[in-house]
Amino acid sequence: MEDTLKILVVDDDEVDRMVVRCGLTKAGIKMELSEVGNGNDAFSILSTTAYDCVFLDYRLQDQYGLTLIQQLRSSEIKVPLVVLTGQEDEQTAVQLLKAGATDYLSKSRISPENLAQVLRSAIRVYRAEMQVALAKDQLRESHEQLIRKNQELERQQQQFQMQNFKLSEASLLKSHFLATMSHELRTPMNAIIGFSQILLRPKFAQLTHQQADMVERILNNGKHLLMLVNEVLDFSKLEAGQLDLKAEIFDVSKVINLAVSEMRSLAEAKNLSLLVQTNLQNTSVFNDPVRVKQILINLLSNAIKFTESGEVWVEVKELPANRVAIMVRDTGIGIASRDFKRIFEAFRQVDQSLTRKYPGTGLGLAIINSLVRIMGGKIFLESKLGSGSMFKIELPRQITLPPGGVDAPPLQLDSNQVFSSAQNPHHSSSQARQAPIGYPKFKL
Ligand code: ADP
Repeated sequence: MEDTLKILVVDDDEVDRMVVRCGLTKAGIKMELSEVGNGNDAFSILSTTAYDCVFLDYRLQDQYGLTLIQQLRSSEIKVPLVVLTGQEDEQTAVQLLKAGATDYLSKSRISPENLAQVLRSAIRVYRAEMQVALAKDQLRESHEQLIRKNQELERQQQQFQMQNFKLSEASLLKSHFLATMSHELRTPMNAIIGFSQILLRPKFAQLTHQQADMVERILNNGKHLLMLVNEVLDFSKLEAGQLDLKAEIFDVSKVINLAVSEMRSLAEAKNLSLLVQTNLQNTSVFNDPVRVKQILINLLSNAIKFTESGEVWVEVKELPANRVAIMVRDTGIGIASRDFKRIFEAFRQVDQSLTRKYPGTGLGLAIINSLVRIMGGKIFLESKLGSGSMFKIELPRQITLPPGGVDAPPLQLDSNQVFSSAQNPHHSSSQARQAPIGYPKFKL
């Protein structure tokens, strides 16, 4: 205790005050000592001045020391208090300590050593108590902060839930709207296509060359529009998880040839060679032929659309573990690797501008990706800007229909061919720039 201590002695007996003063002086305590003779003065001086320790007579004339202690503590006046007792028993001491006294010393035991000891210990205890109180305050403060943060988090979570709810409601509405609109649009479109086809029949109408040309345009545009409408309908069905595969055993090379022959006129119109190479020992697969053809038509129409000169070719080959790979290559504009993932998202196109050169909805690859996923297959893309692209679809030879779907009938197998479930489609060893594509989330 190097510092000068501010000490207050509260005692109505002048002699007792002197005993304390002398004792502390003799003990060598560096101090600034004040003395008061009654409880009221003690209370008012302690209300305005901070002391390091107070020596308080238990029996003051105007009140008991105990009353003053209670008064001080209830007024939140914090100071180490040593009560100087007379002949009081242990019970009084316990009472004093409970009321808030730091320590007590019997007047009969006052000596410089005892005074110094009790002073030091009172200050030590008081400081420790203050530290505990401070730590408690800090704990309480951080606890309250935690509660506040928790409440804030709960509020934010509720907001997120509300927003999520609103978003899924909006998304549901949008899907319903898309499904209804595209469904409704199909009926007039089919009428336009059907009647244009009838008009073009030579037996039905004698059209001039110009008229026939106009009807042909109506037919072609109608077909194109129907294709777009069908894309939107497929997309909304896939988004709602309502697109079911109708699996059957069919000859995959026939479906490929059919798709290629449908696309040939488009390729020829752009002077592109369209080649097919089938390397299959067993051409039977169990899948949905309409959807497999749809995948091919989409890939081929993209390949033709994005190629100005050169070739488009389709290759089919067997893969280990009863899988079949279908590759569609082109020598077109190519795709930068930064766009590989993006183009598989719904409505995404490399060129999103309104003045873009190539038309389209941006749904084709998203639909393909979803179809391949529900078939238990994978898509790989290899491409380089300016050098063309290669889309590879790996499909299990026999798809597994979801529970509740039609059971796959036993296949007529060639020689020793054994089919396995396609639940674990295998990744082919990745070459440079070859990346498996993530599935789009179909959330707008
Ligand atoms: P769409 O063809 O209707 O725009 P898709 O989903 O089929 O929509 O394709 C998305 C985008 O991916 C295309 O807009 C194009 O930017 C890019 N893409 C697809 N296929 C090719 C390809 N063979 N060559 C170059 N870019 C392609």
